[in-house]
This record gives sequence, structure tokens and C-alpha cells, in this order.
Amino acid sequence: MNIKLAQEMTSCKNYIDGTWIMGSGEKFEIISPLNGEVVAHAAQSSKSEVDAAIESAQKAFIKWSHISIKDRTQVMYRFRDLLLKKSDLISNTVSIESGKTIIEANAGLMKGIEVLEFALSLQNLDSGSKMEVSKGVHCEYRRQPLGVVASITPFNFPAMVPLWTIPIALTLGNSYIWKPSEKTPLTANLIGLALEEAGLPPGVLTILNGSKEIVDEIISNEKVKAVSFVGSSQGAKEVYRKTTNLGKRALCLGGAKNHIILLPDSNINLAGTGIADSFTGCAGQRCMAASVLLAVGDTDEHIESIKSRALETRCGREMGAIISKQQLSFLNEKIQEAIDKGATVILDGRDVELYDTSKEGFWLGPTILDNVDPNSFLAKEELFGPVLAIIRCENISEAIQIENLNDYGNAASIFTSNGSLAEKLAQEASSAMIGINVGVPVPREPFSFGGIGNSKFGHGDITGINSLNFWSDLKKVTTKWKMQEDHNWMS
Ligand code: NAD
Repeated sequence: MNIKLAQEMTSCKNYIDGTWIMGSGEKFEIISPLNGEVVAHAAQSSKSEVDAAIESAQKAFIKWSHISIKDRTQVMYRFRDLLLKKSDLISNTVSIESGKTIIEANAGLMKGIEVLEFALSLQNLDSGSKMEVSKGVHCEYRRQPLGVVASITPFNFPAMVPLWTIPIALTLGNSYIWKPSEKTPLTANLIGLALEEAGLPPGVLTILNGSKEIVDEIISNEKVKAVSFVGSSQGAKEVYRKTTNLGKRALCLGGAKNHIILLPDSNINLAGTGIADSFTGCAGQRCMAASVLLAVGDTDEHIESIKSRALETRCGREMGAIISKQQLSFLNEKIQEAIDKGATVILDGRDVELYDTSKEGFWLGPTILDNVDPNSFLAKEELFGPVLAIIRCENISEAIQIENLNDYGNAASIFTSNGSLAEKLAQEASSAMIGINVGVPVPREPFSFGGIGNSKFGHGDITGINSLNFWSDLKKVTTKWKMQEDHNWMS
């Protein structure tokens, strides 16, 4: 894997009012999970920097919101072209700071660009509506931006998750404060540079580096009107509570515990590949990764197929690294705990052979544990690593009952060749994103992305058409220009 950053990227700056400037607070290191080395530095932002940045975002909002959506969209077209032109650099940077493979890093960027393309279509999709509701009386919708909005993003998709919100929020006319994960701020720099080069006016995008402490300063600033958050459920719940307590809107996406139901009638290759790719992809560090397999009846041949496919996934080639040393220790500890409590090992990734990469990185190979206790930590809590816990079930009703009891609500899938059983899951699952013979059921644009339960606090979704009412308000205008002869109670 290529672990080399351009020299100018090694100090990671804030972007405030169109100027790149190092935060004045304590410096922190950005460590590549691929080799455990410090690759760059960034610095915390102080309260006065946060306040000054929001002040400039407010000024920028006045101008940005007054130009037409067609003109704002032109900036977004140029932004898209620049992201595509710089995709190698961005993917390489995502890989270095988050530990993903280059292929995964590129796929995340492309998915982000898909949302950007949705935003490009807003000028045509959302042209409002007007109706003569009574003789001579017209009602119309006018969408208006909120003002300064903020977004807090996680480490695991440094390009994709910000691109869920930046294009839609900006195209609708807001100015945008972005606090990227302190583990992956380098990609944020590249995205900021691309928007600057695309002609986004100074102050419309602000990037503030730092850890969760600066989030409080952002939320509590009275000029910030809405906050989106993507990260752990604990963070999501906290940010949701603090933001809504101040009477502001919040949409906070949290962690996940995704179940896959495997039925004996499913296609062995489809299930083997789909399930293995789901729990090993991004080294299990994605909110849509399979983490519990509910194996109904005799599915041993299918499980063998999952194992063979997982064995083809080599660390450093098909699979990336774990984000940090602490997270790797946590995963190792939880695997051992489950084994001590009686789980059987089908595949143990702890003593992994590395493919052409540094031993100093943070690596865990695909791990499959069978006969996991449904009430154990491994079965109930998010691990965020390439670990598949198998729970054996007598029938589909038992499997759905286990899925229903989980506190999260992101994704649930089923592998079967029986349409009515697939429909049973679609109807009865407690999660919001359902897969039928699909291991990672991420809805593609224009379908919106978002879970329920502890996977999402707030209403609406974060992408697609359901996100528009989060990033804007709808004004309802009723107009009458002349007195009607035959006027009635409404005219
Ligand atoms: P994290 O919660 O540790 O951090 C996410 C962001 O929030 C970072 O910018 C961090 O600085 C900030 N933050 C953390 N705790 C905070 C708090 N209490 N108050 C304010 N800000 C806080 O998450 P992470 O480790 O970066 O990302 C992994 C998590 O994100 C996993 O749980 C994963 O499931 C989740 N995730 C969810 C989705 C989704 O769509 N539901 C998508 C991607 C990741």
C-alpha cells in the first residue's frame, strides 16, 4: 500500500473565511492505521476561532443565499469535476488516514459524488409548486435555506459521509461549518481545497479541526441553526439532546448492529460472497456491515462458503486496517471474551498473515465465531471490526425475534430464494434499511439513507429527497391580486 502524503499535507489547517490557517489550540497527531506512524498534525480550534468562523459564515450566508440556485449549482458542477480529477489523491489520502484499501477509499468517494449529483438535480427536481386553490387565490411553496448549519463527521468514511450533506446543504443556500473527525482531517482539507477552486465564496464553507470539545462551542453558538452528526450512538444521542434542547433542529446518525438471516434455501455463492464481503468490507468499520448472522436450520455448507470467501480477503490487499491501536485491542479482547464464554472459532483473524504491508499497522483478519450467546456483548453491541457472530436459530420467526430485540435499527438482510419469507423480513424487521440477497443494503440515490432506533436520532433522512426539509424551511405563500365577483369563504 502507498503510505506517502504530499509534503504540503502534513500540517492540517482550518479553513475560515476563505483562509487556510492552523488552529491555535493544542496540536494533535494523525496516525496512519496502515503503519502506525504519525503522518501529519492538526490543532484544536479555540472558542474565539469557532466564534469568528461562525461570524464569517453568517456574513457569507447573506450573499450565498441571495444568488439563484442555478448559480449555486454551477459551483457544485465544478466541484464534482474537481473531485473526479483529484480522485487518486483523495482516495490515497483517505486510505492513509483511515486505513481503507485504495479501492474502498475510491468507492466511498464515488458514493459521495452520487449524492453530489443528486444535489445537482435539485434545481430541476425541487422547483416548488403553485396552485390556484380558490378563484383568484394562489398558494405556493418557497424553499428557503436556514442560515449557518453545522456537520460533525466520523473517521470511517472521510469523504463519503461529508459528501452526504455538503452538496445538499450548500446547493440549498446554507453556509456550512464542518468539524471532521480528528482522526481523518486530511481528506477534509482536500475537499475544502476543491470547493475553493470550484469558486465557492469565502466563508460559505468553514472547516474547524478539533475533538468533541469544540462541538459544544459550535452547537451553542446562536447563529448555528441546524446540526447534523454521524458517528457513535453515544455521540449522536448527546449532540441530538444538546442541539434540540436549544430549540434547534438536529439529525444525528449513530452506530449499528446489523443482522443477516441466512436460510438453507439460499444460493450458496450469492450468500457466501454477499455475507463475507459485508462483514470484511472496510474491515467491518462501516455502519452497514453485517455483524450477526442468524443461521436458520442446516446452513453449514453456506457457512463454509462464507469462510472460503473470507479467507481470500488478505490484510493489506483486499482488506484495510483497524483505525487505532486501542480499537484493535478492544476487538481482540471482545473476541477472546466470546471464546471464553463458549463461542466456537470458525476463523480467527488475530494472528493474521499480512500481505506486503507493515507489521506496525493495526490489523485484524476476518473472524467468524459460531454458537455465540444471543445475550452476549458480541451479539448485542457494535464492535466495528471484521467479526461475524453466528447465532443458530430453529426457524425464521426466532431469527426475526432476535433482530427485533436489538437496540439499533440501521440494516437487516435475508438470504433466501423464497419471496414470501423475504417479504416477511421486509415487513417485520426493526431496521430501516432492508436487504434481500444483498449484504450491504445501502440505498442508492435518490433513495434516502438513514436508520431508526439508536442508529438515528431525529426525523427525516440524511440524503435524498427526505433530507431537503432538514436543510431548509418551506415558506407557504398565499396570494390574491383582485377582488372576485363570485368570491366565497376561501377567496
Ligand atoms: P465518534 O462518535 O467517535 O466520532 C464522530 C464525530 O463526532 C467525530 O468528529 C468526533 O470528534 C465527534 N464526537 C464524538 N463524540 C462526541 C460527543 N460526545 N459530542 C460531540 N461530538 C462528538 O465516531 P467514529 O469512531 O468517528 O465513527 C464510527 C462510528 O460512527 C460507528 O459507531 C459507526 O457505526 C458510526 N457511523 C454511523 C453511520 C450511520 O450512517 N449511521 C455512518 C458512519 C459511521
